[in-house]
Amino acid sequence: MADTATLMPYDEALERFEPVLGLETHVELGTESKMFCGCPTTFGAPPNTHVCPVCLALPGSLPVANEKAIESTIRIGLALNCTIASWCRFARKNYFYPDMPKNYQISQYDEPLCTDGYLDVEVDGRTIRVEIERVHLEEDTGKSTHVGGATGRIHGADYSIVDYNRAGIPLVEIVTKPIAGTDRLAPEVARAYVTELREVMRSLGVSDVRMEQGSMRCDVNVSLMPRGSSEWGTRTETKNVNSLRSVERAVRGEIERQAAILADGGRIIQETRHFHEDTGQTTSGRSKEEAQDYRYFPEPDLLPIAPDPEWVETLRAALPELPSVRRKRLQREWGVSDLDMEAMHNADAIDLVEATVSAGAPPADARKWWMGELARRANESATPLADLPITPEQVARVTALVASGALNDKLARQVLEGVLAGEGGPDEVVERRGLRIVNDEGELAALIDQVLADNADAAEKVRGGKIAAVGALVGGVMKASRGKADAGRARELILQKLGVEE
Ligand SMILES: [Zn+2]
Repeated sequence: MADTATLMPYDEALERFEPVLGLETHVELGTESKMFCGCPTTFGAPPNTHVCPVCLALPGSLPVANEKAIESTIRIGLALNCTIASWCRFARKNYFYPDMPKNYQISQYDEPLCTDGYLDVEVDGRTIRVEIERVHLEEDTGKSTHVGGATGRIHGADYSIVDYNRAGIPLVEIVTKPIAGTDRLAPEVARAYVTELREVMRSLGVSDVRMEQGSMRCDVNVSLMPRGSSEWGTRTETKNVNSLRSVERAVRGEIERQAAILADGGRIIQETRHFHEDTGQTTSGRSKEEAQDYRYFPEPDLLPIAPDPEWVETLRAALPELPSVRRKRLQREWGVSDLDMEAMHNADAIDLVEATVSAGAPPADARKWWMGELARRANESATPLADLPITPEQVARVTALVASGALNDKLARQVLEGVLAGEGGPDEVVERRGLRIVNDEGELAALIDQVLADNADAAEKVRGGKIAAVGALVGGVMKASRGKADAGRARELILQKLGVEE
């Protein structure tokens, strides 16, 4: 691909230009059947086994709209603070693609089901309101696989095969209004928006929102305007970005690429682009300059949708607690700062901390272990925190052992390490590794006598009133017990033996 772009360093690009974003997110709904027929929607079935005359568009077949999909779309619209249309229609979007058997897609055009909403996201302690232009319902296409080429793209492939299992799965598209004013936070705002949207979908239970399986995917629009200008630049649309990290990188990469072109006196071509995980850059897809004419018209085979306002209100009243509201509640209950909460959110730790608290741990302890030792280990092994082989109940048990004095923090870390290594639950690891604190007073006294004998100088100093010198003696006891003594108790006993009162 002759598209080796020159880039401008991010900081310089931001000094000279202001980015404007737009995000179009597709979410496959988790309905049992497809949008317009009764075929199942389960992922991973053998190719072309979930098909019927309707989703293969055989002559004479007629679509029937899936009520559950309409309900889910209305719930999404309500959760995103949208207005729900009292009357709207499906439309035909005409274009040819081999993975689309009808040669048109049933979508919505000028009459979407939901309009004019917003979603607030938090970045860097700032709340940014992302305005939603529309939420509409359409059907997914099938999936083409291009075989024989080096890139998996059609260019250079020997042949292509098509799987229609996905064709006709209900798809909701959520389109933002242009997002300006995010400045250097643009990549983070894009990521935070998609993250928040994913959580809203999860809380509604309308989709499994697995980006890696394509049940949630994002088109990222970026344009730049020179500082001081109020005229928006030409935008590019990077298609089907399929991870949160990639959303962030795609925005950053486009800012760096477009800035270099504009600074050099060039112009941005309105086109779709592909994101490449390996380089973090985008390359040119198809040009949109000969603006495609989809010849939209109202779908003649389907009735208009006119949701009963009473039904809409019933759905509104039954919405679950939304993720941002839940986070505010938990933040109050746990007594943590905005930044600590944001850190937990970014680390995907909130559910884990909540479950650990439910299992009996004090919030501060639950947070300390998940955001400290466990986050560190997750990071080291590049594993999502939730995928570590330890349960919130086990973490709660470790905090209980620390609270009871059976473990100190250092030993607790070894217990966590044992659990992660598959040595069993916390109690088993304590038993097997012999990690319980030495709280047998006789054993501790013997250790102290030995340490006092070995460190006569330090003992003398303490006796003479230099209490600070006791630290070295406590250190000696900890060392002799290989970290298993209770340091506080050891200090008390040492002072007592030396006849010193604090
Ligand atoms: Zn079907």
